[in-house]
Amino acid sequence: MRSASRFSKSSHLPRPRPAGQSPSLARWRTDDRLQIVALHIGSALSPLPLPSVGQVISKSRRLPPFLSREAHLKALGGKSGVYRVSFGRQRYQVDLSPRYDRRKKIVGVRGILRILSTPFSGHGPAAPAREGGGPFPPGRPTPRSTSVRSLEIAQTIAHTAKLAAEARTRKALELQLLTEQALVKMESDERRARLLVDAGAILDSTPELPAALARVGELLIHRMADWWVLQLREDGGLRRVALLGRNPRFQGTLERLFPPEEKLNSAEMLLLGLPLVFPQDDPAEIGDRPSGNRRTDGLVRGGVTSFLRVPVRLHGRILGALTMGTSDPGSALGFPDARMAEDLASRIALARESSILYEEVQRELDLRTKAEAELRKLNAELEQRVSERTQLLQEANREANNFAYTVAHDLRAPLRAITGFSQVLHEDYASAMDETGKEYLERIVGSAQRMDELIRDLLEYARLNRTEITLGVVDLDELLTRTMQILAHESQERGARVRWQPPLGKVIGQEVLLSQALRNLLSNALKFVAPGVTPEVDVTTESRDGRVRIVVQDNGIGIAPEHHARIFGMFERLNTSDQYAGTGMGLAIVRRAAERLGGVVGLDSQAGQGSRFWIELPAAPPS
Ligand code: ADP
Repeated sequence: MRSASRFSKSSHLPRPRPAGQSPSLARWRTDDRLQIVALHIGSALSPLPLPSVGQVISKSRRLPPFLSREAHLKALGGKSGVYRVSFGRQRYQVDLSPRYDRRKKIVGVRGILRILSTPFSGHGPAAPAREGGGPFPPGRPTPRSTSVRSLEIAQTIAHTAKLAAEARTRKALELQLLTEQALVKMESDERRARLLVDAGAILDSTPELPAALARVGELLIHRMADWWVLQLREDGGLRRVALLGRNPRFQGTLERLFPPEEKLNSAEMLLLGLPLVFPQDDPAEIGDRPSGNRRTDGLVRGGVTSFLRVPVRLHGRILGALTMGTSDPGSALGFPDARMAEDLASRIALARESSILYEEVQRELDLRTKAEAELRKLNAELEQRVSERTQLLQEANREANNFAYTVAHDLRAPLRAITGFSQVLHEDYASAMDETGKEYLERIVGSAQRMDELIRDLLEYARLNRTEITLGVVDLDELLTRTMQILAHESQERGARVRWQPPLGKVIGQEVLLSQALRNLLSNALKFVAPGVTPEVDVTTESRDGRVRIVVQDNGIGIAPEHHARIFGMFERLNTSDQYAGTGMGLAIVRRAAERLGGVVGLDSQAGQGSRFWIELPAAPPS
């Protein structure tokens, strides 16, 4: 009896056996259709009606109560159980648990029958548990012998019909069994799937891992196990990150068996990657089952009847271990639970990774916020310093302006005296002087006049900085007409042609300043032409992005690009006074006036190709 002997091979697992528990009366093993494939009777004296190999555990057969079909179905669904039954005056205990193949698939049920309370006497007939509960299997009635041939034929027909009916019934039963079995499995699978979904939702919703783990632990304790422990790898060992038990009295034991820090040797490190279910049918099926393990023994002593440990894995790396257990023999943890626990562990590993990322981002944000605050502070300090400097500069500028204005103003009086007396000398005493004397006198008058012009321009420039400015709308056509009236004499003298196409538009500015700037540009355009060339000047405007550019274009001598930047400076001239008269203040005044009106100046020109000077100001809003 090969299968019976394999079945009877006692497990070398340290299976917990409560004190005083008697040895088994019978052990049996079924396949996944609940047909008994192996049987071992422990006590020959047993008066119990026992099953036989080949029997299917079904409702219709009159089986003793310990062969409850419902309990067997539960075991097929992955739920181990311990059941108590009475038979006559005797009480028995039946352990039913699922059987797994190498791929952890449930392939049948394993049953053990033991005497529970009083020692089994082996005497006295045990009364049948229920009606018809005779020896198993129920005997077929002995056919009564008859000499009548026809009766024999009738009996044969009846017997054949009965056999056919039995075969049909058996088929129907098998079908029913399969359906029920699938339903039980579905129910267990659904329970596990729901737990996984709920735990996943918790892990997804909370970025802070400790809080999420605490809630997941509560969920597990509520729905699946009596306790759980989560350990993560750290420095060649394990660090406990979560531990929760339903029974407060067991908490101390758990904390002792799963210390906060645990060192692991290399073999233990390797075993960490293999799932472990305790107890299991055949220890050879899983190679990592520690035998006589200190922790296993400790848990068993603490009343734990089953537990499982699975690796916490992420991208193929083992990050730690998740362990959970129960003391309830009726809801033993099995391989389907271990598979679910492995899924849960993977989710925890993922949540841990995102929580680390979250913390990193948070840290990065903190750093950035700090850096921004620092920058803001520095900016504020810088602004403060700039505004202090600006104030100092403005004051210094104001003082310099006042000084220049006062000096220029005060210089004019003695200059006027020099000019005046030189003229008197020229008019009244010219006859008393020779030609050289007269020439010297003319030079004195010329220089005094030039100095007067310089001082006049300097005063004008200084006044530009001192004048209060009120901005308003300036009509460029009107402004240009008035400016050209001032320049009419100069223009006619040179035979110049100045053109513009109204309307030129309107800008925001101040008429006096703008007129002065325009006058200087036009005057230069009329002046800086090559000898013999008739000045031709075009005034145009270009509007862009709320600004208006007033352009004065001439056909003059042009300016080489390397001089463009400096000609807007004070007293900067590119030509000598005998070539072209001037003080070198005209463009400085243009730039200063534009700046005071919130505008800018510029120039496009090449030597010998005419010039294109421009002033850009804010456009007046459409009226
Ligand atoms: P000023 O006209 O009194 O010489 P400005 O400040 O008006 O002084 O001009 C500075 C210099 O820029 C001039 O001396 C001249 O060399 C050059 N310049 C100004 N306008 C023109 C122009 N339209 N064409 C050529 N050169 C010019």
